[in-house]
Amino acid sequence: MNFLDGKSAPAREDRLHASIAFGGICSQVKTCERARAAGCTNRSNRLFSQAQGCQFTLSLAILNSLRNAVIIMHGPIGCGICSTGNIGQNKAFKQIRDPGSEGLIWLSTNLDEPDVIGGGEQKLREAVIYADREFRPETIIVCNGCVPALIGDDIDTILSDMQTQTAATIMPIHCEGFKTKIMATAYDAVYHGILKNYIRHPDRRLPLWESDTDTFKAEYRRSRNVNILNVGSMSYSDEVELRRLLEGLGLNVSFIPCYAEPEDFQYALETSLNVSICGTHDDYFVGHLQEKYRIPFLVDTIPIGRKNTSIWIQKIAAHFDRGEEADRLIAAENAVLDDALEPYRKTLAGKRVYLAGGEVRILATAEVIQDLGMEVVGFKAHHYDQFAEPVFAALENIDQVEFSVATNQPFEMSNILTKLKPDVLITHVGGNNIAARHGLPLLPLFGPTYNYCGYSGVFEIARRLNKTVRNYEFNRQLSINTPLPFKKTWYEKDPFSYIKYAETV
Ligand code: SF4
Repeated sequence: MNFLDGKSAPAREDRLHASIAFGGICSQVKTCERARAAGCTNRSNRLFSQAQGCQFTLSLAILNSLRNAVIIMHGPIGCGICSTGNIGQNKAFKQIRDPGSEGLIWLSTNLDEPDVIGGGEQKLREAVIYADREFRPETIIVCNGCVPALIGDDIDTILSDMQTQTAATIMPIHCEGFKTKIMATAYDAVYHGILKNYIRHPDRRLPLWESDTDTFKAEYRRSRNVNILNVGSMSYSDEVELRRLLEGLGLNVSFIPCYAEPEDFQYALETSLNVSICGTHDDYFVGHLQEKYRIPFLVDTIPIGRKNTSIWIQKIAAHFDRGEEADRLIAAENAVLDDALEPYRKTLAGKRVYLAGGEVRILATAEVIQDLGMEVVGFKAHHYDQFAEPVFAALENIDQVEFSVATNQPFEMSNILTKLKPDVLITHVGGNNIAARHGLPLLPLFGPTYNYCGYSGVFEIARRLNKTVRNYEFNRQLSINTPLPFKKTWYEKDPFSYIKYAETV
């Protein structure tokens, strides 16, 4: 893998043959994914699409969290306006890491009709100078939207010319929404910018990494530095839990990229292992670090659910020759957790659950659901690619369970929910609107202040599910008083009527 000579990261439709449209069961999606290069799920699409996402907005999940930075949204005022929704939370989470940290600072170049004709260069130059003089950040991040890309603003040349006029490092991010239907391409777009602009001191990598000899490899492992690639949907409590577990093995843990300072990325090379929390998020970054600096990486399961957490710990421990310590830690944690879960199993056992959100996260959370004696009746994944496969392994009797692939598409989800009639929904925060109007108990798939990862995360999911199923009166009242927005005839149709596979697209 080496895409760094290019201006931007390739779309995941091309790089990973990922899919955004599928309706069937788990065994089918796994088979199709394995045949993705032949186009099975990769080239499927919809004849009608509703509320499709944009990679520009998802890029901000990482970028907004970076400390000591100003974000410039280069585009019309609407691009990135979602940032207003997490200003308070963003400031609080930055200040947990550094009490002196500023909150989120973002500007828009506010392109309008005359700029579409005359170009957005002048506004971009003014915004960069203003950001540098007014806020004195370490970094100015410029997110490029569809409009400047379509009218041909050459932001790389403009920004490279401006670098001599600013104290801040300028980092262009090519995250134009129209370039991909797979929102997760956003992560590659951000890492592309980070790899090209933040990783600038290769001398910081551990010198022993130059050699291939067994002695040197053993020395390198003994350094015990491990980077954990955190994700925007993780909370600080999740980081505390994962740090607790890995420090229990004697490792030195650093978290990047979310809530990191630009300087933290320089130290990123002083590690002997990069560990992904979620393959969907990080493979582009860790793949390039291996290719360029020969730093090994682990992209496997996600530490949500106790089987997944145990596998994740064992694989990290194996790299550092600490397998026996890991086995002891895992046994002790499981014994405590078993006792703690017992009261909740009594309330939750037998309830039917539907999960919607990121592919890796929904499959991992389903492991917790099965652990609690609940039944998984269906999944809806934002997209589908190879990173789902290791997470399937922790699930039992899952092959015949319904599986759909849809980025948002609330009309499909509403139809599915009416047919499957689950008792509980676990869904992405952005999907709560239509989901809540079905009047069911609902647990957000992630929450910025809640713990989902590690063994304590399993307990927290159980505790909160128990509370949710016992009182969901708000959603019940919503379903009584706010009718669903789709016609009755839609509910009589197959929810996947608008999906077209490769041969018919
Ligand atoms: S799709 Fe394009 S125009 Fe729309 S928000 Fe995303 S970047 Fe902006």
